[in-house]
Amino acid sequence: MITTVLGDIPVDRLGPTDCHGHLLIRGGLPVALEPEFLLDSVDAAVTEAKELLAAGGDAVIDCMPLGVGRDAAGLVETARRSGLTLVAATGFHKDRFYAADHWVRRYPADRITELLVAEAREGMERSGYGDPFVERVEARPGIIKVATSAPEPTAMEHTTLRAVGAAAAATGLPVISHTEHPDAAPAQLAALAAEGLPAERVILSHMDRHGDADTLAAACETGATVCLDWLGRTDRRPDAFIVDLVVELVRRGHGDRVVLGQDLARRGYWHAYGGEPGMRNLFANVVPQLAAAGLSPDQVRAVLVDTPRRVLDRMEMTR
Ligand SMILES: [Zn+2]
Repeated sequence: MITTVLGDIPVDRLGPTDCHGHLLIRGGLPVALEPEFLLDSVDAAVTEAKELLAAGGDAVIDCMPLGVGRDAAGLVETARRSGLTLVAATGFHKDRFYAADHWVRRYPADRITELLVAEAREGMERSGYGDPFVERVEARPGIIKVATSAPEPTAMEHTTLRAVGAAAAATGLPVISHTEHPDAAPAQLAALAAEGLPAERVILSHMDRHGDADTLAAACETGATVCLDWLGRTDRRPDAFIVDLVVELVRRGHGDRVVLGQDLARRGYWHAYGGEPGMRNLFANVVPQLAAAGLSPDQVRAVLVDTPRRVLDRMEMTR
């Protein structure tokens, strides 16, 4: 089963999936540092979601976790109004997105694990545990996010890696990680494995931001799934570069370890806010490029559908 914000669905109900997206970011330190991160309109999220659906997509993993502007109730409303299959995240972002006095820095990993497990079992806390009165929505997270800022995690990131690994092992949820650089992957996977979470349960995001085919292939060989999610961000790398990376990874036999996403967490990337290319880009523009570059329909389907189904499938509780 896959846990969406509108409830659990059988794995075979999941269609083409954008594995790293952002529908809503409602304040928090990321927005204070970078006002362009503010994605505060459910109407705009519904518009983008409908464009993605019309272009042939079905699902998005929303990657905003606790304390950085996640809007649990808004995600539920977006899914209801648009028809999008939406998977929400609990967990944590990178160190610099939490204030020096944030509670995450005060507690040991096992106490933080309790908060994540409670979200997974009882529903997401509306404010991301930012308010002293815990109030849950019915919707539960379908994935746990974790992040590191550099190859060597900070003290806070060591704690969150341990907490997230233990919570994922306890709940059967998969993990999606933010890698600032591909060099971060080995430390992340080792820390998660130490808590009982195998690499097969992990999606490594942003591996295309600085990585080349060799680094990405090495990550695939660990059993983890790599997410190439800088699509549509032509300020970084053109989509054609990422298409070539996918083709090369498939050629090397890693076609079942690659997924795609669109980290379009800025107003300027959204049609609904007057920007480009909009959330339809992956399905409207990139998928045809994958076919034109020589991938077969089955190879494209593996990247968009089969691998997301395998990784998002919630495992049996292990403890
Ligand atoms: Zn992101």
